[in-house]
Amino acid sequence: MPGFELFGPEEQQEVKEVMEQGFTFRYNFDAMRNDHWKARDMEQMLCEKFDVKHAHLLSSGTAALQTALAASGIGAGDEVIVPPFTFVASVEAVVMAGAVPVFAEIDETLCISPEGLKAAITPRTKAVNLVHMCGSMAKMDEIRAICEEYNIVLMEDACQAIGGSYKGKMLGTIGDVGCFSFDSVKTITCGEGGAVITNNPEIYNHAHMFTDHGHDHVGNDRGAESHPIMGLNFRISEMNAAVGVAQLRKLDKIVEIQRRNKKLIKDAMASIEEVSFREIPDEAGDSAGFLSFMLPSETRTVEINKKLAEHGVDGCFYWYVNNWHYLKNWDHIKQMKSAAKLPIELVQERPDYSQVQTPKSDDIMSRTISMLIKLSWSEEEIQQRIENIKKAFAA
Ligand SMILES: *Cc1c(COP(=O)(O)O)cnc(C)c1O
Repeated sequence: MPGFELFGPEEQQEVKEVMEQGFTFRYNFDAMRNDHWKARDMEQMLCEKFDVKHAHLLSSGTAALQTALAASGIGAGDEVIVPPFTFVASVEAVVMAGAVPVFAEIDETLCISPEGLKAAITPRTKAVNLVHMCGSMAKMDEIRAICEEYNIVLMEDACQAIGGSYKGKMLGTIGDVGCFSFDSVKTITCGEGGAVITNNPEIYNHAHMFTDHGHDHVGNDRGAESHPIMGLNFRISEMNAAVGVAQLRKLDKIVEIQRRNKKLIKDAMASIEEVSFREIPDEAGDSAGFLSFMLPSETRTVEINKKLAEHGVDGCFYWYVNNWHYLKNWDHIKQMKSAAKLPIELVQERPDYSQVQTPKSDDIMSRTISMLIKLSWSEEEIQQRIENIKKAFAA
């Protein structure tokens, strides 16, 4: 991570085709586009690579979450279980859908735990937005079994774990619907973009219609299409899709580099006694975009985080104090602040978000640091980094 480190002539060539011989709109305009269909091509590639029946490309990962919710029939007043450690979009998408986020505890996988999920279920629960945080996965066998037992939609937000897998299945294809982000800093990027993937034809149909004002996309006369449902505009442009086509071709290489670089640093850190690592339910499927490790206490973690920075070990994130990724610091969400009155204000039985406590997650996150694994590091830079890490711990 991130894929932009490998930008090259391949991305330029794909964009050039759109600008010189193609058209920027993803649908129709057959006469003008000279048979260039970048969004459609990338969807086809996603289906093949992820061994999934349907993929729909759209404007962002956030749009993917909102689309996945709507397409799975989740809306006004429905409860959706979310983690306290995630990117804020996981919660915002639920609120903007008129649904009610319910926070569940994580475990050392840094994802929602099976126990946390079970404890958050109520008779109103319709879905869980399971986020595969920082490159690796949740305990998916147990999570899936609980979702089946309680008849809950299993959404997988694999925005940070694209290319990872669990027991041979690509992350994003284990539940009912999966979401990817291709924003500027993700493992592969479209500039801005995202995707919804599913094996469920009804979810897919609702997804492509929802992202394009309900257009059914039947035939080749856009003006004559019918609109079975209402929607919005979450379309991706052909220019963004073109970048993604070239990046998706590099995904295997990116994951391979991440795994190699991560292993060198992880192996070196394994000899530091006070360090333990994030639990990875299927090590072989780790996308390796981050190396996350834990220390024995919050005090020591604060100290080490400071020492790492002082020793030039960049790209380390102490999420516990980061206001993008952890509930503790999300004052705007705790107070449900928005530009206008929210649907959730009409829901009688909703949590008091200012009082939500996640003590197990606090304990884990107060002791966790994640290191971004870069693609552009040279062998020497990695060795230097390892030396600097050791010095930071010894200081
Ligand atoms: C990046 C990200 C998103 C949102 O994706 P955008 O394309 O930036 O809208 C959602 N969830 C997670 C976990 C993310 O990391």
